[in-house]
Order: sequence, then C-alpha cells, then structure tokens
Amino acid sequence: MSAVVPETRRFEAEVEQVLKLVTHSLYSHKEIFLRELISNASDACDKLRFEAIANPALSEGDNELRIEIEVDKEARTLTLRDNGIGMTRDEVIENIGTVARSGTRRFLESLSGDARKDTALIGQFGVGFYSAFVVADKVTLLSRRAGTEASEGVHWESTGTGEYTIETAEAARGTTVILHLKPEEDEFLEPWRVRTLVGKYSDHIAFPIRMLKQRHGEQEAAAEPEMETINHASALWTRPKSELKDEDYQGFYKHAAHAYDEPLAWTHNRVEGNQSYTSLLFLPTQAPFDMAFSGRDERKGLKLYIRRVFIMDASEQLLPSYLRFVRGVVDSDDLPLNVSREILQENRLVQQIRSGLTKRTLDLLDSLAADQKEKYATFFSAFGSVLKEGIAEDFSNKERIAKLLRFASTKSEGAAATVSLDDYIARMAEGQETIWYVTADSYAAAANSPQLEALKSRGIEVLLMFERIDEWVSGHLSEYAGKKFRNVAKGDIKLSDDEQKQRDEAEKEAAPIISRLKELLGDKVRDVKVSARLTESAACLVLDEYEMALHMQRLMRAAGQDVPAQAPVLEINPQHALVKRLGDEAADSTRAADLALIILDQARLAEGGQLDDPAAFLRRMNALVG
Ligand code: ADP
Ligand code: MG
Repeated sequence: MSAVVPETRRFEAEVEQVLKLVTHSLYSHKEIFLRELISNASDACDKLRFEAIANPALSEGDNELRIEIEVDKEARTLTLRDNGIGMTRDEVIENIGTVARSGTRRFLESLSGDARKDTALIGQFGVGFYSAFVVADKVTLLSRRAGTEASEGVHWESTGTGEYTIETAEAARGTTVILHLKPEEDEFLEPWRVRTLVGKYSDHIAFPIRMLKQRHGEQEAAAEPEMETINHASALWTRPKSELKDEDYQGFYKHAAHAYDEPLAWTHNRVEGNQSYTSLLFLPTQAPFDMAFSGRDERKGLKLYIRRVFIMDASEQLLPSYLRFVRGVVDSDDLPLNVSREILQENRLVQQIRSGLTKRTLDLLDSLAADQKEKYATFFSAFGSVLKEGIAEDFSNKERIAKLLRFASTKSEGAAATVSLDDYIARMAEGQETIWYVTADSYAAAANSPQLEALKSRGIEVLLMFERIDEWVSGHLSEYAGKKFRNVAKGDIKLSDDEQKQRDEAEKEAAPIISRLKELLGDKVRDVKVSARLTESAACLVLDEYEMALHMQRLMRAAGQDVPAQAPVLEINPQHALVKRLGDEAADSTRAADLALIILDQARLAEGGQLDDPAAFLRRMNALVG
C-alpha cells in the first residue's frame, strides 16, 4: 500500500451546516479569516511549547516558533505556515471534519432556522477555521504532529461543499494552510493588504509573524528573498500599559478568550512581592449565547502562563465560580513549569493569585459602577445573576458583592435591575429600619403582588426579585450596612403602635368573618388573619419566616423533589367588597361557600400559583356576577 489513494469523506452534517452559514453570513467582514487562522497557528505554537517542557524531543531541534505568510499571485494562493504542534490524521478528522467543540454543538442547537437571526448569531459565536472558505474556493491543509515521522504527515483538501479528501503525505512539523482564493478575492494577494490586516488584528500575537521583505528597485530584486517579522511578536501583557492602545487590548481579547464580542472593560496589572505575576482580565459584553453558561462544568477563558509559556486554561483554579465570566491571562513568574491541575488546586501561590484576581475583578466592577453606569448596567444585565452567586459563595467579600448588586424595585421603572442597596438605604422612609423585598417567579407577579400594597401606600420601597437564583441569594443575605432584609410575604409585618391598635380593632370586628372562613375552607388553610399588608386586594397568602417561597416550592416539585405541601396562612382585607359580602351571606348558603373559595383562589392567583380546578373557579365567579 505505498501509493495510497486519497480517501474522500463527508463532513459531519453539522459541519456542512456551519460551513454554509459561515460563507453566507460573513461576506461583509471577510478579512477575519486571517485573524482566525493566525490565532489557530499561535495556539498551535503555544501547545508545542507547553508539551516540549515535558518532552524536549518534540522540538526536533527547531525551537523558534513562528508563523509565516506567503502570497503567490500566479497560483492565486495565500499560505499560512506554522511550526507548532501540528495534527495527526485522526486529529485533523476530529478537529476539522467534525463539530468537536462543544461550543459549536451548542451553537447549532440554538439555531432558529431563521436565516437573519442565525447570521447574527454566528457573529457572536465565531467560525474559526471554516472562515477560510469565505475567501477560498479550495483549502489545502498539510500538517504533521510534532514527534511523528516526516512521512506521517496529513494532506487534507476541501472545497467546502460537503466533502474533503485526506491522505498521508510528507510534511514539515506544524501546519500549513493554503487558501486557493476565489476569483473576486484579489485583495488578499497584495502583500501590503495582508500586512495591514496583520497589523490591525494580530499584532498582539506573541510569536513572530513573518512575510517576505518588500523589495524596492532592481538591485535588491536580485538578492536572496528574506523574511521579516511584521508584528510586535511579544506577549501583549508583558508590554507597558502606556504603550498599548485600546485596539491592542480589544484584538488580544478576541484571540485569548476565543471571543467575538468586544470587551466591556479590562484591568492590566503587575504584582511584585513575595511572588510576581501579571494579570490582564477582561469583562465580556455579552453572555455566551447559551445561557447554560451557568453550567459550572465548562469554564474557559482564563489562561495560565508561566514565564510566558502557555500552560492551560485555569479559570476554575484561578477564579471563584461566581466570577467565571472573566476572561484573560495570568502569567506567573514563580510557579513551576511542570505544574499540574492537581497541584494548582492546592498550591499556596495559586491561592494568593486567586484572591488577588478576585480583588482586581471586584475593583474593576466597583469602578465601572461608580464611573460608567451605562457599562455597568450592560455588565449587570448579562452577568448579574452569576455575580449574585458570590453572596453565598464568597463570605469574605459578601458586603462588596452586595454593594454591586442591582434590583428592580417599586420605585424604579420596569423590570431592569437599576437600584443598588445603597440607593435603597439612602431613600428609606423615616423610621424605616428594614430592607424590604419580595420574591416571585416573574417581574409582573412581583410588582403586582398584593403583599406590597400596604408598604407601597406608606411610601416604602420594596425590592422586586424574580430570578430563580434570588430565592437562594436572599436566603444568604440577611443584612447589608447594618440593615436587616425582610421578605414582605413572610412573617408578621411590624406596625407602629397606632396601626397595631387599628388592626386589633379590625381583627375584633372581623372575628365573625374569620371564623366563617376557617370553617368554610377547613384544612385548605392553616390560619386566617386580618392583614397588615393589604389595601386593595381581598386576600393574600403569607409564609412563616423560614418557609420556602411558594413559587420555589413549585419549581422544586416540578424538578421532581419531594416538598411537603403545607396549607398556607390566608390574610384578608376586611375592607374589601368580597370579604364584606361574605359577612352578609347566610352562613350555610352555597354563595358563602363559593365566596370563601373565590377569596382563597384569588390569593393563590395573585401569588402566581395555579388553581387545582380553574373551571370551578370560573363557574363560581360567574355565579357571583350573574
Ligand atoms: P478553535 O480555535 O476555537 O478551537 P477552530 O475552528 O479555529 O476553533 O479550530 C478547530 C481546531 O482545529 C482547533 O481547536 C485545533 O485543534 C485545530 N487546529 C486548527 N488550526 C490548527 C493549526 N494551525 N495547528 C494545529 N491545530 C489546528
Ligand atoms: Mg480558532
């Protein structure tokens, strides 16, 4: 089997789908293919350098990692060559022929089938290697994994339409990608154009990117062709801040974080002391399109370097989970190069870096919150629910994190979270000592909750919490700046002496109605009381101080958990027409029984609950109106 016939294989169906989308959606920013391919070449060089620490033979005597770009006007090709890690045949099939990246899978799952929306999505998601097909009608890839024989190279070729060929070939270590440019893509055959693009998108790449030296005049034309480095070719984070422009940071972010949005903000620092390290941390603008982002298993985007050598993605070791949206790099001078994930977990220096990075991140958020409110709002709407986890997770920074939280409230417009706890405290009513909040499963249910009525009418602000995580967060947030938190739906509401007197009166007056309700509702309720919360609604359901919110109980049951159902406490508003009417009906009439059930069901509905028998509720309502 010496002359092997190239094998023709089909791309995975998903790859075809991605390819089609990419080529159709990127024509307005075609040039990003260059950034993508250079980024891959740089990753490949990083990987080789890392593997060569444990296995120096992999370098094959060629330690000068580099990326070379060549144009050939006659052949109409643009070639990118790296002497990085390279790929085996299986790796080529796996990395290029299938959708190996979980990100790609999730991207495909999120496709809507609506071409316009999907095109917008791909911009967020990025396209990597496949962007080559935006400008090329054929792509040839030649690769050889470091450490394998020269004859074990791989030759891969495709026109990007469903199939590719793959065969064994002689190859140098690393990967060469040859783009056979489409007829209309002449611009990428112009060396100056390519240089400009490298300057624009890839200057921050830490390895030299080289091109043939431009020749001027005839004398020089006779000379041997010479390569020159066209990028800055040093790790961006090692360069002085004063030398770096916003564009440099922005370009670097996209490469280092494999991200496609713009960074919202960054913080670049050098620490010297008992240990030295440099960190460059970014806040993204957009949450990853899959909100399964809360899945803690897949954390990427914070790269650990040791003395300029890329070691691994170590977000999990270097940042607490509630800051997992942070992207960037950390470069340590002191950790041993042969560090493993397990060692990282326990290393004292790593623990110090971790708390240092936590502090830097919180500092950055503080300064955004103080000076760039709009940016902070963008951040919070994308990642606020992740940050909230810190309340339970990071005891030592709890107060700082609480300060950074934003909520919707009865004194702000709409569902957007804009009110800070400091805002709330600054405008507390006279004599108010508590931070009031309500939890529900939607903004509407929270904002319209009957439990708020009395507080609202007294001008007391209530924070509206309606994200899933809020119930959990509020369980861990008992105090801020010396003020206690109270859920308006739980326990007794403390009244002033005057109000207490009035309520005792009302309770006495309403005694017959209360006992009637207790009788008619039986074990459907645990107790019936006159409410200090209501001014407009007929009734509401109230929980004990430590009881789980009703919408949470529903969620947990839906998730298959066994949550014992306890009959609720019903609080009534004796001033309400329905309640008064109940008092007027003959005790044993169907009307009275109907009214009692309607009052209870209304309380359930207002809380966001579902009725056991909605048809019966409607029948009773209609009978009442008719
Ligand atoms: P990503 O870079 O985000 O992983 P790409 O589509 O750009 O996605 O690349 C897919 C994979 O193909 C890479 O993860 C890598 O394993 C492999 N690959 C691409 N280009 C190279 C290269 N020049 N050298 C080695 N491997 C490469
Ligand atoms: Mg890539």
